[in-house]
Amino acid sequence: MNFETEISLLIKSRYSLVLVDTIDEDFVAGQLFSVAAAMGLCVYCWSLTKGLRAGKNENSFYQTGPPVNMLKTVADLTEDKAPALFIFSDFHKFLQDAVVARLFKDIVAAINNTRITIVIIGADQPLPPDIEPHAARITGGYPDEKEILAEINRTLAEFSGSSARLHISLEPVDARRLVKSLKGLSIRQIRNVINTAILKDGRLDKTDLAEVEKYKKGLFDRESVLEYFGAEQPADIGGFANLKKWVYERKAAFFADDSPLPPPKGLLLLGVQGCGKSLAAKVIAGELGIPLYRLDLNRLYSKYLGETEENLRKALKTIERLAPVCLWIDEIEKIFASSSGEMDGGVSKRVLGSMLTWMQERKDRSFIAATSNDINNLAPELLRKGRFDEIFFADLPQVPERAEILRIHLLKRDLDPKKFDLELMARGCEGFSGAELEQAVISALYSASGSNEPISTRHILEQLRLTRPLSVIKAEDINFLRDWAKDRAILPV
Ligand code: ATP
Repeated sequence: MNFETEISLLIKSRYSLVLVDTIDEDFVAGQLFSVAAAMGLCVYCWSLTKGLRAGKNENSFYQTGPPVNMLKTVADLTEDKAPALFIFSDFHKFLQDAVVARLFKDIVAAINNTRITIVIIGADQPLPPDIEPHAARITGGYPDEKEILAEINRTLAEFSGSSARLHISLEPVDARRLVKSLKGLSIRQIRNVINTAILKDGRLDKTDLAEVEKYKKGLFDRESVLEYFGAEQPADIGGFANLKKWVYERKAAFFADDSPLPPPKGLLLLGVQGCGKSLAAKVIAGELGIPLYRLDLNRLYSKYLGETEENLRKALKTIERLAPVCLWIDEIEKIFASSSGEMDGGVSKRVLGSMLTWMQERKDRSFIAATSNDINNLAPELLRKGRFDEIFFADLPQVPERAEILRIHLLKRDLDPKKFDLELMARGCEGFSGAELEQAVISALYSASGSNEPISTRHILEQLRLTRPLSVIKAEDINFLRDWAKDRAILPV
C-alpha cells in the first residue's frame, strides 16, 4: 500500500490523530494536500515559525504561532465539525507542556468520530503515554517506484532545459535497477544522488548504478541497523536444488495480489558452517529479484535502556516501508540466544517477542531468510510450525555438488573449468564445505603463481590434501547437528 492510499484509509476510518514519521516534510505535505483535495477536505497547516495557515496560503491568520494560541483557534475552527485536515509540523515537541497537552487532548476527544483529522509530521516523534493510544502511526516521505521514476524524469528535464550537456544512455533493465536502488531514499536524497551522478561527467548511464548503490550503502551504514546488500544479487551456488525449486515455485505468489496461494514469508536455513547458508540468502533475493538487507546484530543491541527494542522496531518499520525486500537474519540464534535467561534484564526476551509478533502479523511483502549453525542456542519458539514456511538443512556437499562448487569458484576467478578434472577433484575432498573448497582454489592460485606455473588440477588437489576440514576437526559437533536435523525430518537443501 503506498502512502497516499494508507493515509486516505486512516482518514476515512475517522482516525482523529495520525503521526507521520518522515525526514521529508515538504514531500509528505504535498501528498497530504492532494489526498485532502481528492476527499474534499479543507486543509490547515501549522508550524511554530509560520503559524496557522489555511491551505497553501503563506499568510498566517491570527497570532497563532505559539501552540497554545494555535490550539485555541483550532478548537474554534473545529466546533462546527466541518470535514478538515490539520497538518502540524513538529508538534510532538510541545506536548511536554501541561497546558498544550490538555488543550490538545480536548480537541482530539472533541473531533473523535468526525471527518476531522490532525496529522503531525516530523522525524522520530515520541508521544506522551496518555496520547499515544489515540494515534495511528505511519511512515511517509519515501516515494514509490512510480514517483521515483517521475523524480528522475523531472531532474533530467531540468538538466535538458539548462545549458549543460547531458547524455543519457540507460537500457530499460538498467533504468529499472536504478529505480529499485533508489527505493528507500527521500525525494531530496534522490535528487541529490542523480544530480551528482550527472554533474560528474554530464552522463547518466550504467556506470552510475554502482555510485547509487554506494551512496545507499553508505546511508544505511550511517543510520540503520540494517545493512544494504544491493538491489539485485546475482549469486551462484552449487547444490541447493530443493531450496531453489522451493523459491522458484513460490515466486509468482510472492508478487501476485490475487493469488489463491498465500505468498511465501520466509525460511530458516540451518546447517554446517561454511556450507553456503549466507550465500543462499543472496541467491533467494536474486531469484526473487528483490533487494537484500541484513539485520546487523552488533548494531541492534544497545547498552541504553529501551534502545534495543526501539532499534528493532525502527528496523522492522523500515523493512515494511522498503518491501518487497529480503531480510537476512544471519546467525539468528545470536539475537535470541539469551532470551531464556535474565542476564540482560530481559531485553533478548522482549526482542524475541517483538520479532515473533512481527513475523506472525506482518502483511508486507518481505521475505525473511534466517540462518543458523548453532541449534543448541536457537530459541525453540523459532522452530514452531508457522514461524517460517520451511526449515532447510545445509549439509556438507556430496560429489556432484562439490564439482559444481569448484566450477563456480574457478569461473569466478576467470579460469576455464574445462581445463580442470572436476570429477577427480570432487572425489578427493570428502567432508569439505563449500567455503573450504573455495579456499583450496584460492590457495592453489597462490602456490601456482609462486612457482610460476599456470594453475592446474594438480595444484588444487595438493591444497585439498593439505587441508584438514572442519568435518574432521569438529566431527562430533557436525554429527550432532546432522542427527538433530534427521530426527526432526528437516528438508535437505
Ligand atoms: P557460516 O555458518 O559459517 O556463516 P555459511 O553456511 O553461511 O557459513 P557461507 O558464508 O555462505 O557459509 O559460505 C562462505 C563462502 O563459501 C561463500 O561466500 C562461498 O564463496 C563459498 N560457498 C559455500 N558454499 C557454497 C556453495 N554451495 N556454492 C558456492 N560457493 C559456496
